[in-house]
Formats: sequence, C-alpha cells, structure tokens
Amino acid sequence: MTPRVRFAPSPTGYLHVGAARTALYNYLFARNNGGAFILRSDDTDKARSTDEFQEDILEHLRWLGLEWDEGFEIGGTHGSYRQSDRYDRYREVAKDLVDRGRAYYSFATAEQLDAFKREAREAGTSPAYDGSLEPSDAEVSERLASGEKAVVRFRVPRPGATEFDDIVRGDMRFEHAQVDDFVILRSDGTPTYHLASTVDDVDYAITHVIRGEDLLSSTPKHILLTEAMGADRVTYAHLSLLMGPDGKKLSKRHGDTAMAAYRETGYLPEALNNYLALLGWNIGDDETIASLDEMIDRFDLSTVSKNPAVFDPKKLEWMNGVYIREMDEAEFVAATLPLVEESVGRTLSEEDRARYAMLVPLVKERAKLLPEVASQARFLFVDIDEYDEKSWSKVMAVEEGPVALDGAIAALEDLDPWTTETIDAALRAMIEERDLSARKGFQPIRVAVSGSMVSPPLFESLEILGRDETLARIRAARSALS
Ligand code: GLU
Repeated sequence: MTPRVRFAPSPTGYLHVGAARTALYNYLFARNNGGAFILRSDDTDKARSTDEFQEDILEHLRWLGLEWDEGFEIGGTHGSYRQSDRYDRYREVAKDLVDRGRAYYSFATAEQLDAFKREAREAGTSPAYDGSLEPSDAEVSERLASGEKAVVRFRVPRPGATEFDDIVRGDMRFEHAQVDDFVILRSDGTPTYHLASTVDDVDYAITHVIRGEDLLSSTPKHILLTEAMGADRVTYAHLSLLMGPDGKKLSKRHGDTAMAAYRETGYLPEALNNYLALLGWNIGDDETIASLDEMIDRFDLSTVSKNPAVFDPKKLEWMNGVYIREMDEAEFVAATLPLVEESVGRTLSEEDRARYAMLVPLVKERAKLLPEVASQARFLFVDIDEYDEKSWSKVMAVEEGPVALDGAIAALEDLDPWTTETIDAALRAMIEERDLSARKGFQPIRVAVSGSMVSPPLFESLEILGRDETLARIRAARSALS
C-alpha cells in the first residue's frame, strides 16, 4: 500500500516553526516511502481563518521546498482539499451516523452539561457526557420538526477503551469513560474539527496521520469516528511539541515563531529544514548536516523521539552559517547582491560588482545571516560621511587615534605594489615603530575606512578599496580629529 500523508494547517495564523517541522516530517515520510504528500486547508473556523494566513502557509511551504503532490491549490482527485467546500459531505456523514444510531441530536445546554459534570465529580462517577440528559426519541423528532436547533453528538460506546500503537509514542489506551459524547456537527450545521478532519482522512485515503502531540487526546475520537464510518483506521504518529531553551513551550517569548520572520532575517531554507529535522529525529547528533535528499533517504519515523525537542535559535543561526559557507560563490552573490544594493541605495556598476566579488570570500566565511553581508560590504560603495559614535569615541578620540592614522598615511602613501601582503607588512611595521598594540593601531584605520569597528578583515578590505580611496578616507578621518 502506498502511504498517503497529509499536512492540515488551519489558516488561523502564519506558518509556525513547529508546524513547519510537522510538514517536513510528513514530507520526508512520504518521499522516503514513495508515497503522496497531501496539503489540506482546515478552514472551518470562519472567524479566525484569513486568506493572508493561507497565502503565508503556502508561500513558506514552497520556500522550504516542501512541494505537495496533491491538495490545496494544485488539486487532485478529491476536489479542492478545502474543508469549507465540503460542508455537504460532512453533514451527509453526520446524518448517516445518526440514522445508524452511532450519533444523536443533542439538546443539552451548556448549563445542563456543567451541572452534569459537577454532579458526576461529586458522586465519583465519570464526568464524560454520555447522552443521559437527552429527551426521548419521540420528543427529539417533535422538537426537530418544530424547527428547534440541535447539535449532533457521537455516541461513544461505553464501557470500552480505544487502543492504538502510536509510531512515536508507543502503546496508547484511552478509556471511553473519559471521553465525552463529542459534538460532530454544530447547531448551525457546521462540522467540528473532529468530524471534518476524520471524514477528510477517510475520503482522501490517508494511511498515516503525523501531527503534533497537542492532538493526541483527539485521536480516540477520530478512531471511533473512522470505524463508525466503516473505514480502516490510519496509523498515527504524534510529534512532541517544541520547547524553548528554558524548557517551556515554544512561544514568542523565545523569539520569532513565524517562518516568515526567519526568511526575512536571512535564513536559508536548507538550514531551516536541516535544523527542524533534527528536532526529534535522531539522524545523528545535533550538529548533523544533511541535505533534503539525504534526509529523504534516511528518514525513519520509528526513530523519532517522544521527548520534547528544544528549539534553540542560536543553534539554528550557527547552522545557517554552515549553509552560507557551503554556498558556491555565484549562488552567494545572487543571494546577497540585492541586499547590498538595497543597503547602498543604488544598483552596483560593473566595477563595483567586481569589487564585491573580491570581498565575497571574506564575508562568506564569517556570515551567519545574509543581511549581515550587506552591512559588511556597504563601506566599499558609499562615502563615509558619518562614523559610528561608539566606535569613534572608543578608538579615535583617544590618544592613539591620531598616532595610528598619521602612521597609516605615512606607511601606505608610497606603498607599491598594493596587495594584502604588502599592506599587512607595512601596517605591522608601523604599529611596532609607534609602539601601538594591534587593537589600538588597526582599529582607527578600520573606523576611518568603514565608519565602524565592525568590518571584514582589514588588510584585504584596504586592498579591495584601493590606495587612493583608502588614503582619502584616512585623511578625512584624521582631519575630523584635529
Ligand atoms: N488543522 C489542525 C491544526 O492546524 C491539524 C489537524 C490534524 O493534523 O489533524 O491544528
């Protein structure tokens, strides 16, 4: 049997890193088994679902390269794969379950249910609602015929239990005494998540449901519904939730949780996939680098841990740096040139681009995020008419500042040839002669040519900047000091 899995986000929020991991595991499982990866839109919550969230989810799944074979937007043999288009189908299933006695119209009010639960607790019996507050069949028919609204509840068989073997969590058992006769259709005729999700899983011939552990307690309900529909159960795998480094549930407090934010900050999709894959799947240690193809080859749901996984933004940043270093230069230039141009405020000329190409090996080695590259390269292409205040007061407006700048002018003025090596030798001789430490001697030069203390390696930068421009900038800074 070819596996069929689905990722079923509700468009009630941006694609979250935890949801992206769920999507990735579904994708890897499908690809590893030659199965189908299906995307569904669980948009039954009309009040909270928006087109903007839906777009964000699609866009970032595509950005991560998690293309689906069938489903929302691209279609397939099962219609639109959008729950709001399938209300008739859900109502039909609910009606069929009522006709077969597996579900019933319920008139119990919230107050009645509260009282029921309270009394059960006091009496030490099960607080799960079992339908005992409902009127007789005759009265139900009468009230429905007179136009009164009712919800439809699934009749949970009691006594009993639902057991299943979760691929990640192992043997699970839920006593029906703890499961309410749950609502499947609301009184306005809209389906609940339990009904819509289960009907879709059955209709789309899903074989494996891989989703977050927050839905574990819904699973007995889904199994009961599936079997009541006369279908075969699917296999379940519930993934542990993501934690922040402090061991608490991952939330905004820990940093960004929306995939869009990571994309905008300059993360590479390859790094995100790699990092997210490691959150629970024991492919190696937590620094293992693996491409999507390698992960597809090696993916094994049965080795996924049920322990909570820690999402550590620092580790992700480190991994992004690894991926940046692995990019080839052309790819790196293509990804960063637009950022540099945006920062500089103009399109770079051919000559500028040649200078940028010289800088690339230096910045590529060190960058953890792509936008850092723009701020590091910027000095090559703009006039330095302002200096970073902190840098200025720290290294320029001190005794050694003018000494270093005068020394640099003297050492570089007639330097020939102008190469990293000759610049290196000349400036080292200069600081020795003037009895300056490397920091006190070189930092003022760095600030003079780049405007701040943060720039790519100094001697290489000066070579790329050229003699005339280097000297002009050092002289300008020197006169600003006197
Ligand atoms: N739509 C549900 C959610 O976004 C997931 C449904 C499922 O995977 O069963 O939480």
